[in-house]
Amino acid sequence: EGSWEALYRVVLLGDPGVGKTSLASLFAGKQERDLHDQLGEDVYERTLTVDGEDTTLVVMDTWEAEKLDDSGKRESCLQAGSAYVIVYSIADRRSFESASELRIQLRRTHQADHVPIILVGNKADLARCREVSVEEGRACAVVFDCKFIETSAALQHNVAELFEGVVRQLRLRRRDS
Ligand code: GDP
Repeated sequence: EGSWEALYRVVLLGDPGVGKTSLASLFAGKQERDLHDQLGEDVYERTLTVDGEDTTLVVMDTWEAEKLDDSGKRESCLQAGSAYVIVYSIADRRSFESASELRIQLRRTHQADHVPIILVGNKADLARCREVSVEEGRACAVVFDCKFIETSAALQHNVAELFEGVVRQLRLRRRDS
């Protein structure tokens, strides 16, 4: 199959400060970050080889830029994705509650299609400031019918696994449809 067939848009969602840009930058790697600085865009593209197969992800870190002005742009953000990564901080319960609200909003915009959603508890390194337990995160993902992973962008822990997981979810969906 042609590589153009395996190009997916992944939209990052979540409260300000939870680590979306940090995760996107790690995904992109150093080289892309330089390019990113030049272009001033919050969109990162990279081809990952997962289970011996190439898949290109276009990761969009545009949620906050759209936030303040009109709700139409936010709405289009919620419709643009082939997959969604909803990020909260394990050290910020409010951001966990926001993640639930985002999941509900996504359910509204994607009623029929079972678009992959990954719930991400970031800042797992901040153990002493933890406000959301691993069990709570996992339970929330079960209720919301999505995948769950805890990451630390600061320690670069589970970040590669997160995006590989996104690729695997997208492939499962492709094979279902
Ligand atoms: P965004 O607003 O969601 O894009 O969040 P940023 O990526 O800009 O991160 C907000 C702040 O949290 C920055 O100071 C980051 O350095 C910090 N941060 C991001 N990820 C982590 C993490 O995993 N652990 C810790 N301790 N800090 C993090």
